[in-house]
Amino acid sequence: MYDFLSKELVHLESITPQKSALLGAELKLQTIDDLLNFYPFKYLDKTRFYTAKEITEADNVFEAQIIGSIESIKFINTNHSAKRLICRFVDNMNGVIELVWFKNIVNIKSMLEKYADKKIIAYGNIETFQNKISIIHPIIKQYNIQHHESYLQLEPQYSSTSTLKQNKVSSILIRRALLEILKKLKQIQKESLPETIVSELKLVSLFEAMANVHFPKSQDDIKQAQRRLKFEELFFNQINFGLRKIISHSNKNGILLKKEFDITKRFTSTLLPFKLTNAQKKSLKEIHSDMTSGNQMNRLLQGDVGSGKTIVAFIAILMCIDNGYQTAIMAPTEILATQHYNQFRKYSDMLDINVELIKGSLTEKKRAPILEDLKNGALEIIVGTHALIEDAVQFKKLGLLIIDEQHRFGVAQREKLWKKNETEAPHVLVMSATPIPRTLAMTLYGDLDLSNIDELPPGRTAIETFHYILGYEKNMYNHISRELEIGRQAYFVYPLIEESTKMDLQNLESGYLDIKRYFNKYKVGILHGKMKSADKESVMSDFKEKKFDILVSTTVIEVGVDVPNASIMVIQNAERFGLSQLHQLRGRVGRGAEKSYCYLITKKEIMALTKQRIQYMVNSNDGFYLAEKDMQLRGAGNIEGTKQSGRIDFKISNLSTDSAILEEAKKRSKTILESDPYLNNQNNAKILAKINFLFPTQLRWSQIG
Ligand code: ADP
Ligand code: MG
Repeated sequence: MYDFLSKELVHLESITPQKSALLGAELKLQTIDDLLNFYPFKYLDKTRFYTAKEITEADNVFEAQIIGSIESIKFINTNHSAKRLICRFVDNMNGVIELVWFKNIVNIKSMLEKYADKKIIAYGNIETFQNKISIIHPIIKQYNIQHHESYLQLEPQYSSTSTLKQNKVSSILIRRALLEILKKLKQIQKESLPETIVSELKLVSLFEAMANVHFPKSQDDIKQAQRRLKFEELFFNQINFGLRKIISHSNKNGILLKKEFDITKRFTSTLLPFKLTNAQKKSLKEIHSDMTSGNQMNRLLQGDVGSGKTIVAFIAILMCIDNGYQTAIMAPTEILATQHYNQFRKYSDMLDINVELIKGSLTEKKRAPILEDLKNGALEIIVGTHALIEDAVQFKKLGLLIIDEQHRFGVAQREKLWKKNETEAPHVLVMSATPIPRTLAMTLYGDLDLSNIDELPPGRTAIETFHYILGYEKNMYNHISRELEIGRQAYFVYPLIEESTKMDLQNLESGYLDIKRYFNKYKVGILHGKMKSADKESVMSDFKEKKFDILVSTTVIEVGVDVPNASIMVIQNAERFGLSQLHQLRGRVGRGAEKSYCYLITKKEIMALTKQRIQYMVNSNDGFYLAEKDMQLRGAGNIEGTKQSGRIDFKISNLSTDSAILEEAKKRSKTILESDPYLNNQNNAKILAKINFLFPTQLRWSQIG
């Protein structure tokens, strides 16, 4: 079966090489399996014919097909100057409805004229107004009584592109190809799941699901097919991650920390200037248990900015140092690396531990001894950027690698780093200040274990957030003046999105001039992505050193950049940002002891969805809560970090609504891998076969067992 599924689409009789190329280019459909997994995005319910009377009486019919004939056609002028085309349509029972068109009306009129005196079928969404029924832009076709049965169906809708439409690659073609596939598949079909799972979860067979998702006979067919296919997708996602974890554990032995933790204890009991929060303690317990297990740690530590991840990371570092191991911290930019370095210095000085920073700008003379000390083991902690991956950087005994802001480092880069030890794989702790919903973390970083710091240290005052309409921000300006007066600093952020870069840049620059004019007593800096990286860094550090009072910027201000004296964040065109991004930007303030404020400016007319987003921001400071809401509003595919990573492209599952199926899939895959980690058991042969089909390049793991 998998041989057949992996064949290119041209192998189908219904697909010419030309059309196959088009499907590949336009929809990324290459193989037979791709097409089979190309699911309808919706179904038109044409399972029966309605009359106007029935629709009026039922009042819950939202889409309908009706047989009837055209009685009259006319253009009418509306008060919006646009014309519309109205067609009086009479059904078999002499009930009347209106068919209405706004666009392309001249062509449609001539088409309709051809149908005069003929029976036609009109299908579309029903609108009822004062007992008058109308359908806007209905689909029209001629009715032929001999084909009566064939009109009655749930008609799947497939996404398409204008190029495909121009080249006559229609849904008719897609359905013909699918019929051909299913006919063949019926002979050679195989289950991909063990019998027990199928029966315990009352799933329909894989073949039945495939057939019914494309050619359903009832709404229940669709429901059952979708449930099976979602489980299928999420289960194999979880099995894949489970296997990855097993590989990374068995490839190399993890470093076993077993000594007494002297320095760690001294630090936490006498030197730490505050009490750890419960969330910090819980994360540390998880990290400790990983590093003393003999397996390699691969853990994601997430928590909002300011939740205290750094101290958790530092204590993990001390555990390694206690056992004679070195540690490395890798940050995405030099600014962030420098910031980490300074923070670690503060702590390590108390303990007489060596920490160094490797920067691109370092002279060879300064770099050489650092590298030397790393190699001979005199240096315990090294902080840097990507530069740490370079071959020149060698360790005597690397025990722990901490990666800050994970979504910029792919799996491959992580692997390259932990290959720096020949025999033992260093533990890996990935830190992220971008909380992501649990379901997303499970499917996106399923190869990592998860620790959440979902609690802020006590005594923080929440950032207060306000929504202002553009042109009505007088009070805001007054407030900002007062804050600047007492020595605080402010950010003004403007959106800059690729497609409209030029306009956005003008917007930013005119905003900059306005702000300079308004706050003429103060120094104003500007920062955007088009600037050279050295210039950006110098503007940023000037702001940090308070050479500027106000920074006008695009979203380039880094996640994690720390200017504690900044207490105001103004976000212009807030309607153009996603919820997580708004929260991230807001997190640039509220980092000092002073109360901070966030102003979200939008234009007057905003969509209900945008209003909802703004409302969430005004009401909550909780990154995990907001991430969850963001996913509900926008769908998982649009969440920060998922696009770049390209690791998430579910064809049928929806993480914001399918979390129950995901939990079940995770539970089942875990149970299976716990008892049969290499899928050698005959009962799991079906799973193994599908895994080999889905992830052929990952075969290496099977040779390890
Ligand atoms: P993150 O890295 O998660 O953004 P940090 O580790 O930089 O957060 O912590 C932010 C600030 O909070 C630091 O000044 C840190 O010293 C302080 N802090 C961390 N944990 C606690 C705690 N449990 N109690 C009080 N202050 C804390
Ligand atoms: Mg931090």
